[in-house]
Amino acid sequence: MAEAAAPTGLLADVVRFSWVDGPGNRYAVFLQGCNLDCLACHNPHTMPLRTPKARVVTVEEIVEDVARLAHFLSGVTVSGGEATLQAPFVAALFTALRDDPRTARLTRFVDSNGCATNAVWDLLLPVTDGVMLDLKSLDVTTHLELTGSTNDQVLASLDRLVREDRLAEVRLLVVPGHNDQEHLLRRTGLYLADHAPGVPVKVIGFRPHGVRAAARDIPAPTEEERAAYGRWVADEVGAALVTVV
Ligand code: SF4
Repeated sequence: MAEAAAPTGLLADVVRFSWVDGPGNRYAVFLQGCNLDCLACHNPHTMPLRTPKARVVTVEEIVEDVARLAHFLSGVTVSGGEATLQAPFVAALFTALRDDPRTARLTRFVDSNGCATNAVWDLLLPVTDGVMLDLKSLDVTTHLELTGSTNDQVLASLDRLVREDRLAEVRLLVVPGHNDQEHLLRRTGLYLADHAPGVPVKVIGFRPHGVRAAARDIPAPTEEERAAYGRWVADEVGAALVTVV
C-alpha cells in the first residue's frame, strides 16, 4: 500500500529569531488562516484561509531551515493565524523536529486562540511541550463582541491543557472600552487562580499598530492603565506569575 503523503502547511511567514513567541530565542512559524475574527487582531493578513500571499511549505523545508540555525535557538513556536487549524501539519512538523538529532533538543510550542477540539489536541499534545493560550475575554458576551465567537471551547481547551500539564502561559489582550473593566479582570484572575493555578499570565495592553480600520480609533492604554490591569489580575493569581507588556 502506498504511504500517505506528508501534510503540507500554508505559511504566512517565519521569524527566524524571536524573543516574544515563547521561552528563549525561538524560530516562529506563522501559519495562514484563523477561525476567529478579532476586532483587535495585530496580524489581520493572516486571518483569511485563502490568499495569494500565503505559500505552501513542506515539513522537510522547515526542519532543514531550523536545523541550520539550531545552535542559536531554544525552540520552535507555531503561531498564526491559528496554528491548530493546520493540526496535521503541526503534528508532522513537531514529530520530525523531535526525531531529528539536529533539532531534538529544541522545545516545541503552539500559540493558540484555544478554539480547537479535543481531536485536535489529541493530535498535537503528544509532540507539544507547551501551549500559549489567548483568552480574549472570560465574559461570553464580550468574547463574542471581540472575536465573533463564544469562549466555551477556549475554556475547555484551557482545562484540558492544565490537566495534561501543557499550559505554558495564558495571554490576556486588554482592549480599552471592551474588556478593561476592573471587575472583569479581577474575575478573570480569580478564574485562572482556580482553573490554572501556577500558570504564568501575560497581560498585554492593546496597541493600534497594524490593526484593521475598525480598531484604529481604539486608544492604547496609558502606562498607568496597563499597570492597573496587571495589578487587578495579579491580586488574584499572585504577582510572581503576572507580566505586563
Ligand atoms: S485569534 Fe489571533 S490571528 Fe486570529 S483573528 Fe484573533 S488575533 Fe487575529
